[in-house]
Amino acid sequence: MRLLVIEDEFKLGEYLKKGLDENGYTTELARNGLDGQFRALQGDHDLVVLDVGLPGIDGFSILKSLRQRRKTPVLMLTARDRVEDRVRGLHEGADDYLVKPFAFPELLARVRALLRRSGPAQAETGLPKIADLELDLVRRRAFRGRQQLLLTSKEFALLALLVRRNGEILARTTIAEQVWDMNFDSDTNYVEVAVRRLRAKLDDPFTHKLLHTVRGMGYVLEDRS
Ligand code: CA
Repeated sequence: MRLLVIEDEFKLGEYLKKGLDENGYTTELARNGLDGQFRALQGDHDLVVLDVGLPGIDGFSILKSLRQRRKTPVLMLTARDRVEDRVRGLHEGADDYLVKPFAFPELLARVRALLRRSGPAQAETGLPKIADLELDLVRRRAFRGRQQLLLTSKEFALLALLVRRNGEILARTTIAEQVWDMNFDSDTNYVEVAVRRLRAKLDDPFTHKLLHTVRGMGYVLEDRS
């Protein structure tokens, strides 16, 4: 799942990105209001963590412009424990708020709760069952039939991307960007290794293969039966 953190405090931003990445999310970090707004409106994020006090455009303005276009869940961070800020945030469409300073486990719990809440709508629009493959996005589990696939968090993120884009050929660079949030101009070997590892768990034990290599183009997950 892709998260966007908009936070201008350098250390806090780094800390949140690192913590969320370690918990299996792919986290983008924006360090000012303008960049944050641009990314929030362009990007396809599952959730936005939004600081209220930002240089340039503040969190409320970003929330307002985001709400005109998208329903992405928003968790607002405020340094000011002021009732009016909380009321305003929630009134303008924030889904939850957290007052600084907070402990990381608390933020993680709020993020998970919000993603769980927005889960059913997502399940309706996407994540089809492909042959006997099923993903539980909330618990981050994958199954083929009744057998659970024991995936690392990055393997799960890779599989979730392939399932979301079911039937579409994904270039190695696209995968690198979406799963690792990086640009791999030359070193797409990294992606090949990850795909090989995923395939060993997803396909190798089963006769019906789902993950296919398209020579010179990339990879596609589809039911070819
Ligand atoms: Ca701030």
